[in-house]
Amino acid sequence: MTIGGQMTQGEDVKTAKPTGARYRPVQSAATSPDQANQSPRIVVIGGGFTGLAAAYEALKQGAQVTVLEADRVAGGLAACFEVKGEQLERFYHFWYNTDQHLLRLVDELELNEEVVVRPSATGMYYAGSLFRLATPLDVLRFKPLSLINRLRLGLLVLAARRIKSWRDLDHVSAAEWLSKLCGKEVFRVVWEPLLLGKFGKHAYDVSAAWFWAKLLLRGGSRGKGGAENLMYFKGGFKALVDYLVAEIRRRGGNVRYGMPATGLEVRDGVVTGVRCADGLLPCDGVIATTALPIIADVIEGHVDRDYGARLRKIGYLGNVCLVLELKHSLSELYWMNVNDPSFPFVGIIEHTNFEPLWPGKNRHIVYLSKYLSTDDPVYAMSDLDLLHFALPHIQRMFPSFNRDWIIDHHVWRADYAQPLAVTGYAELIPDNDTPIEGFKIASMAQIYPEDRGTNHAIREGRLVAGLLVEELRSKLGAGVNGAAAGNRLVSRPNKG
Ligand SMILES: Cc1cc2nc3c(=O)[nH]c(=O)nc-3n(C[C@H](O)[C@H](O)[C@H](O)COP(=O)(O)OP(=O)(O)OC[C@H]3O[C@@H](n4cnc5c(N)ncnc54)[C@H](O)[C@@H]3O)c2cc1C
Repeated sequence: MTIGGQMTQGEDVKTAKPTGARYRPVQSAATSPDQANQSPRIVVIGGGFTGLAAAYEALKQGAQVTVLEADRVAGGLAACFEVKGEQLERFYHFWYNTDQHLLRLVDELELNEEVVVRPSATGMYYAGSLFRLATPLDVLRFKPLSLINRLRLGLLVLAARRIKSWRDLDHVSAAEWLSKLCGKEVFRVVWEPLLLGKFGKHAYDVSAAWFWAKLLLRGGSRGKGGAENLMYFKGGFKALVDYLVAEIRRRGGNVRYGMPATGLEVRDGVVTGVRCADGLLPCDGVIATTALPIIADVIEGHVDRDYGARLRKIGYLGNVCLVLELKHSLSELYWMNVNDPSFPFVGIIEHTNFEPLWPGKNRHIVYLSKYLSTDDPVYAMSDLDLLHFALPHIQRMFPSFNRDWIIDHHVWRADYAQPLAVTGYAELIPDNDTPIEGFKIASMAQIYPEDRGTNHAIREGRLVAGLLVEELRSKLGAGVNGAAAGNRLVSRPNKG
């Protein structure tokens, strides 16, 4: 089923950002005569969804753009690899059918027909059994909870919707909030194991505001009967990334692979260039879209220590994904939460139960996902050691599973997979503006209480690009498509 031109379905949750008044640019640079009448030159650091969306928007508004991407491919955390002629995300990916910024971009690129909407089969592994939890009826049949607690679990999203300002939850832990809202039994059976599985020692520090936003997002993608519908792109996320890169190039932009930004040139407090392996790339503005510690490295020496420390204050979890090509399916579920702390992976995602890549053929794709600190010994395991580490656990969960089912395996690791949204996170968020004039940050660590995701990446990339082009336009004068710049389509929802 394609969604055609259907665009806005539902609202984003409220997002917020401190004013950043403390970190306003310190100096204003005079415009040199040769800069006048030029369209601004912008370097985007990072070719993930935020960077590509920023580049696309800046080009639309008349800027000259170069994207520097450290990896050999674009897409960042949503990048793909090839298996038997098909593209698979390194880390499992889907969209909620409320992802309006993604849908708007897809519409602008005239790619509506490429989006597919499908029901998702979700479930949970608990106390040695698999439970389907895709619809409200499934919740009512969920035996590990008493009837009253099944109702409390089912009504949680409604209760969450009654909360008007996430700010009231910023200093409350998700553990405390959930225990109060749906009771100790529901917390012990459903939420505590998930928090522990994903956040480990940080589980009890996770902010209720972050959890609330996640609940609303997931709840919002349910249809009238309560079943969840998710979206995907024909040809995988890579197909959309390829379209976006092609569009950037068509508009005169440049995407450079294997070319990490390593430093800056800053004159009188104004950014004038980005350093990379090819030397210095002169520019009028920069949008940095990587994780904050990488940005802190790039700008080191040009900002004071306090600012660098602020960027490093937000913690991240890494992720390791074991991707199995199997001859047989493990279950009928697409998404399985593992509510068993003795199982070392928090999610088992059988991608081919959502996107049937080889229908009728004996090839099934399963991701085993583990969030962890990058100094965890599991993160350093070789691919083969990780497979051997996982095998007994898979066997325990799926008794009919046999090693011979494995056709091949792949392992992907990401150092900065998940910003750690702990209580009081709102105060930690750096503003888009930095102490360096012309240097802006658009990072997934700034969108709290929302969780990172490609939909928000697109929104933030476009928004920050619009702001930068507008600033440079008034500084440099002509050369920018004024109509486009003055008519910005992208905006953040109201701040709660
Ligand atoms: C396990 C997992 C599952 C996910 N599932 C989903 C999902 O189902 N749906 C969804 O929408 N989102 C999902 N996400 C999140 C989503 O992929 C990201 O949040 C989103 O793509 C953010 O993109 P980004 O561009 O901000 O950052 P990133 O994707 O991290 O991109 C940053 C880019 O910067 C590059 N880079 C790093 N250092 C430098 C440097 N010095 N110079 C130049 N480039 C540099 C990196 O190589 C990378 O390409 C998932 C993430 C993970 C980890």
